[in-house]
Amino acid sequence: MSNELPPQRLTAAAPEDASIDQALRPLVWDEYVGQKKARENLKVIIEAARLRNEAMDHVLFSGPAGLGKTTLAYLVGKEMGAQVKTTSGPALEKMGDMAAILTNLEPNDVLFIDEAHRINRMIEEVLYPAMESRKLHLMIGKGPSARSLTIDLPPFTLIAATTRENLLSAPLRSRFGGTFRLEYYSQDDIRKIITRSARILGVAMAPEAVEILARAARATPRVANRLLKRARDFAAVNGKPVVDEACARATLELLDIDEAGLEPHDRRLLEVIIDKFGGGPVGVNSIAAALSEERGVIEDIYEPYLMTLGFLQRTPAGRVVLPSAYEHLQLKRKGGML
Ligand code: ADP
Repeated sequence: MSNELPPQRLTAAAPEDASIDQALRPLVWDEYVGQKKARENLKVIIEAARLRNEAMDHVLFSGPAGLGKTTLAYLVGKEMGAQVKTTSGPALEKMGDMAAILTNLEPNDVLFIDEAHRINRMIEEVLYPAMESRKLHLMIGKGPSARSLTIDLPPFTLIAATTRENLLSAPLRSRFGGTFRLEYYSQDDIRKIITRSARILGVAMAPEAVEILARAARATPRVANRLLKRARDFAAVNGKPVVDEACARATLELLDIDEAGLEPHDRRLLEVIIDKFGGGPVGVNSIAAALSEERGVIEDIYEPYLMTLGFLQRTPAGRVVLPSAYEHLQLKRKGGML
């Protein structure tokens, strides 16, 4: 089974949204909302590199899908006055793919590798000396006539992004000068993002509608933008000039998303723990088996948002559904007490 997000999930990047995503992507620091810690640290690293007149240190961005890792990589590139070349872990199939990308870099380019946890180990081996000493070691030919060739690479910055930092190999992780864990956004920041995106798309919105979409946006900019687009479509189809409260609510209903942003998968996970395991504590492997889902997907994709909401807790004994989740699902806890 692959580690990719199931495509129907709201946080997954969808090709049909690509051009709008492009239009909504912040192009200057001031438009990049939230993630203050990462932003401030990055500004220092960028400034220091500029002062030394060197390429910036390699950095790693980790965190759930849709939080702005790619956007941040482009902002860093822009700030460094560098070209950003992009690829992704699964796109790098052969050593030659990596070698071709590295030898095509120009001085001070930024190389952005998305889904870095999916780079295969052979290709990682090529990356190590490239990151450390800007050398590319290649083997030419096979058998007794094989010989090795070393190519000098220009100074460059590798920016890697991953949703699964724990799957990144230790040797690769240790070669980054900085690791930035992006966090879920506050409601206030999500409201700002929706308001900004609505302005860019020319969508008139009632404040109540912004509020409703913001609460359902899973604290994630990509989801916020996607909900906004769907609400805009809904308003257009129904001949409404403004996305109002009713429009926002109807959009969520149509998408089967509740007011806290839970999708059917999230509700099912909570219900399975409640119905089959008395609300927990229960081990993640048992949950995975009951849902026919991969453990890693549950840990890295389903659980983080539920934990942010205070609906689920990881304890040494296993997962426990918390009272606020029962309230949200309007279920009674065992013993009838809430
Ligand atoms: P990731 O690479 O983490 O999956 P992206 O960088 O592709 O996420 O972000 C998804 C979308 O969310 C982008 O198109 C961008 O418009 C929006 N976005 C992300 N972060 C921010 C932010 N901090 N401020 C405003 N919009 C953002």
